[in-house]
Amino acid sequence: MNLVDSHVHLDHEQFRPDLDALIERAHEQGIRRMLTIGTADGPPKLDCAVELAARYPGVSATVGVHPHEASKAVAGTFDELRALLRESSVLALGEIGLDYHYDFSPREAQREVFIEQLRLAREAAKPIVIHTREAWPDTVDILRREWTGPGIMHCFTGDVQQAREALELGLHLSFGGVLTFNKADAVRQAAAIVPDDRLLVETDAPYLAPIPHRGKRNEPAFMVETVRRLASVRGVDAAHIADVTTANFLRLMSPIN
Ligand SMILES: [Zn+2]
Ligand SMILES: [Zn+2]
Repeated sequence: MNLVDSHVHLDHEQFRPDLDALIERAHEQGIRRMLTIGTADGPPKLDCAVELAARYPGVSATVGVHPHEASKAVAGTFDELRALLRESSVLALGEIGLDYHYDFSPREAQREVFIEQLRLAREAAKPIVIHTREAWPDTVDILRREWTGPGIMHCFTGDVQQAREALELGLHLSFGGVLTFNKADAVRQAAAIVPDDRLLVETDAPYLAPIPHRGKRNEPAFMVETVRRLASVRGVDAAHIADVTTANFLRLMSPIN
């Protein structure tokens, strides 16, 4: 199988002791490409993913300010992001969006920084990676007004109705370990209705490990569990999921122009 982990935090401190081995384990499972998310602890450090992409073949980067860190953004932050978006290893802007679960940054700041970054992505003609938690109506509202390009609804955990709204926005839906959780019937129902050409898979490692690894540190190699479950939900084999999600990733991340 040839798989892409569309969303992983390889810069996370939990991976520091064994990152080379972790990437090797991913390769053994057919996961040769990974998109590592560059948000880390937020400004002023914005290029951690770029550094990893330079070090590991098959690893590409994003840059962006996570909603948790929105209150750390200053005018210079956006100038720096604009420059980083010109790097060839930076495929997308993300993860950006709204998180009203933790409210680590005031909601007004989250909305402003989200909108500002949508403008940067448009200017750079690069896709976006969206994080939304307990903020669905505001997220969709902002996207409807401010975004017409391609993007990924990362770690999609909504229901069928929300999946339809994301699809109407032209977005791809990326499924992670939550899909395997016992209580995630609504997510599985949503995963069943997404057209083949809008489907992606991810780990969001080190978070949200799929069953049977739930509660442990997640890593890209574990993504095969999510792929198997997604295949059974959609009544296809895992190789088909690998084919379509890899093709989707490559198409989505090729230059928009
Ligand atoms: Zn996220
Ligand atoms: Zn993430």
